[in-house]
Amino acid sequence: MVTEMERIILLSGGIDSALLACRYAGEPETLCLFIHYGQPAAKEERVAAMRIATACDLPVQVITAGIGCSEMRTGSGTSGPREVPGRNLAMLALTATYYPSSELIIGCTYNDSTDYPDCRTEFIWAVNEVLSVCTDARVSAPLIRMSKREIIAEAEVEGWSNIMSLTWSCYQGQGAIPCGSCNSCIEAAECLSH
Ligand SMILES: [Zn+2]
Repeated sequence: MVTEMERIILLSGGIDSALLACRYAGEPETLCLFIHYGQPAAKEERVAAMRIATACDLPVQVITAGIGCSEMRTGSGTSGPREVPGRNLAMLALTATYYPSSELIIGCTYNDSTDYPDCRTEFIWAVNEVLSVCTDARVSAPLIRMSKREIIAEAEVEGWSNIMSLTWSCYQGQGAIPCGSCNSCIEAAECLSH
């Protein structure tokens, strides 16, 4: 189903994209998109994304797409980044095929840029250059200079902490219990405790 939408929020179910959903809560012509690409925690992330979208009074669409993400399965419950090379490139390109005239909003943050090249400003510029050749879609990453702590702080100031509590940060799907030891769990715990 392809519908014209002004903006598409790539909603992963995590803290960063949850803040984006909060910022656009109730806005017309705004859709949250959850992509099930075979990530280990897809089930938990999807549940979180649906709850966040509902809490923000935004429609949500789920797209299933297989990409190579075997890296995410290694080192279950251990620290270290889980880089899937080109993941954001694949997700943005996929989203642009569904919504070729929309603003595609992705929740890359300053913290992400250390470990993930596809969360850096030069990546966003490069993707926009490619997309402009074949679509009218354009990518924006409004959190790209924000730290995780600043994201949590904004949520607290704006009264969105209840929505942040719906997020799922663990890389590993563990039912209802995050592993507590992967990079994403550690980072979320650090942010939430300050
Ligand atoms: Zn974890």
